[in-house]
Parts: sequence; structure tokens; C-alpha cells
Amino acid sequence: MVKKEEKELTVADLPGVGPSTAEKLAAAGFDTLLAIAVASLGNLVSSSGVSDSVARKMIQAARDMMEMGFETADEVLTRRMACKKITTSSEAFDEVMGGGFETGAITECYGEFGSGKTQVGHQLAVNVQRPEEEGGLNSKVIYIDTENTFRPERILQMAKRAGLDPDTALKNIKIARAYNSDHQMLLSEKAEDLLKTGEYKLLIVDSLTAHFRAEYIGRGTLSERQQKLNKHMHLLLKLADMYNCCVMVTNQVMSKPNVMFGDPTVAIGGHVVGHSSTFRIYLRKGKKGSRVAKLVDSPNLPENECMMFVTEGGLSDKDE
Ligand code: ADP
Ligand code: MG
Repeated sequence: MVKKEEKELTVADLPGVGPSTAEKLAAAGFDTLLAIAVASLGNLVSSSGVSDSVARKMIQAARDMMEMGFETADEVLTRRMACKKITTSSEAFDEVMGGGFETGAITECYGEFGSGKTQVGHQLAVNVQRPEEEGGLNSKVIYIDTENTFRPERILQMAKRAGLDPDTALKNIKIARAYNSDHQMLLSEKAEDLLKTGEYKLLIVDSLTAHFRAEYIGRGTLSERQQKLNKHMHLLLKLADMYNCCVMVTNQVMSKPNVMFGDPTVAIGGHVVGHSSTFRIYLRKGKKGSRVAKLVDSPNLPENECMMFVTEGGLSDKDE
């Protein structure tokens, strides 16, 4: 994004922002013009203590300074080129993904219990640490674990095959257990502090929907659940975009009782999750212990699927 002036404008340059307000804003994470430009009015008011009308003016001014809105196609191209890929360790899967899991986007992996979603998460958490020439990004990882299925032992196995120092590989992964959906949303907000350092290019939420599904039961609560999920997805999308990081989320499936033909399973969260994800991958068990990964309604790749294996050393094209 291009700034209007040579001098770097900061939050303190906004109308109505004195040193103490700037401090309060910074403490709440609003320490850049972009953060304020994309903030919601309510959020800004509650975290800085300014009035509605001042907050509205701040957001508007930040947007003006940022020249947000339209950009020329060459600017879009430059941004697309900043988008990097993380290898999955399976050539077939990488090919389906157009080279690997993308930064600046949310990729949702959905499938039944045991289909390999968590395995894909672990593999990416290892691979993103590898150098760029090996399909990594030389980066650290943020892992939000909601089902208590993160296994450091598994990271060690995969790190070994990837030729990484096992201790360093573990130290490079920051894990937080989320105990309920509110906690999960709070953790994803906190993740921003880590992302700001520029050292983290991968954020995993495994599972995105399990808490929401468990807490909001019954038809009456569905719209509330969808609203919260929507908010959560938008925060993740903002993080992917602002910090050019890869966001990988996992999602369960439920069976659709009224489907007679075709696959009777659908992802939880429906349109809310599906429409916010840039890529959606359906994982299922295939023949002879294989896994099938299918790319579903992607914006830039034809529908495509591949076969791979989960082995001792991690994902692979071959059953080793
Ligand atoms: P999901 O998250 O979709 O429920 P997982 O990613 O936990 O599923 O997949 C679990 C499966 O991964 C196991 O059933 C097994 O087939 C495979 N797996 C896990 N660990 C290993 C390992 N060390 N070696 C080989 N396969 C493994
Ligand atoms: Mg899992």
C-alpha cells in the first residue's frame, strides 16, 4: 500500500489522538494506521476510551492516509508475487495446491476423524521452518490447538526426515491450547503480537470448529454460532492479509441425513467458513492406507485431487 507522503505517518498523526490516546491504542494493538483503518468502530471505542464520533473520524482519517481502496493491476501483481508457498512433502499434493500452501490466504482442510487433517498441520509446521530452496519459508509457527492433539513427538519424527535440528524445530513452534471458543478467538487476536515480529509465516487453528460445534447446540443457537465463526474467520483473514502469513484451519464434517446420492458429508460452519477460506481441501481415506486430498472450489485452480500417504516420516507420495 502506498502512503501519500514521504514522511512515515503514524497513529499520532491522526486527528484527536494525543500521546495518551496513542499509548492506549498501542496497548490494545492499534499501533499502525492500517490496524486503525480496518478496525471496527466498537472495538476502537472500547479499547481506547474515545467517543464514537472521534473513533469514526480516526478510522476515516487512517483510511485516507493509507489510500485504501482501489489499486492498479500491477500493484496486485506485485502483491501476488509476495505470496509464497509451503511444501506439503508430497509432490502430488503440492501440485494440487499450485506449489504448496499459500501465504496471504486461509486454507481449510476438512474431513472425517482420522482423515489426516492434524497430520497435514504438523507437516506444515515442520516444513515452513525449512529454507526457501527446500519449500520452506525459514519461519516460525503459531499453533492453536483446540482438541489437544498436538504431538511434539510427531514433530521430532518429521523434523528428522526434513533434516532439521529437532530441538530448534520444537522451539520454533508456539502452541496454545484453546479451552473454549472465546478463548480460541482471544488467542487468534494475541497471535497478532507474534506475527508483528515478522518471524512467523504460518498460523494453524486445529480445529477451527470443534468448540463452536460443541457449545452451540440446537437450531436456536445456530445464527449466534455462525456470527461468531464469521467474526473469527474475518480476523484470521485480516491476519493472513496484513502479515502475508499462511493460515491453515481444520474443520470437521457432519453427515447430511437428506443426501441420497454423492458424498453425504458436509463441512461444519457451512457458507461462513467456506466463503472466507481461499482454498478448501477435502481429505479422506483412500485405498490401501492412502489419503485422498481434493481441492474444492478454488478461485484459481481447476478442481483437482491426488493420492498420498501418511508415513513414519510424514506426508509422502509413496507408502514407505
Ligand atoms: P484428523 O486430524 O483428520 O482426525 P489425523 O491427522 O490425526 O486425523 O490422522 C491420524 C492418522 O494419521 C492415523 O490414523 C494414522 O493413520 C496416521 N498417523 C499418525 N501418526 C503416524 C505415524 N507416526 N506414522 C504413520 N502414520 C501416522
Ligand atoms: Mg485432528
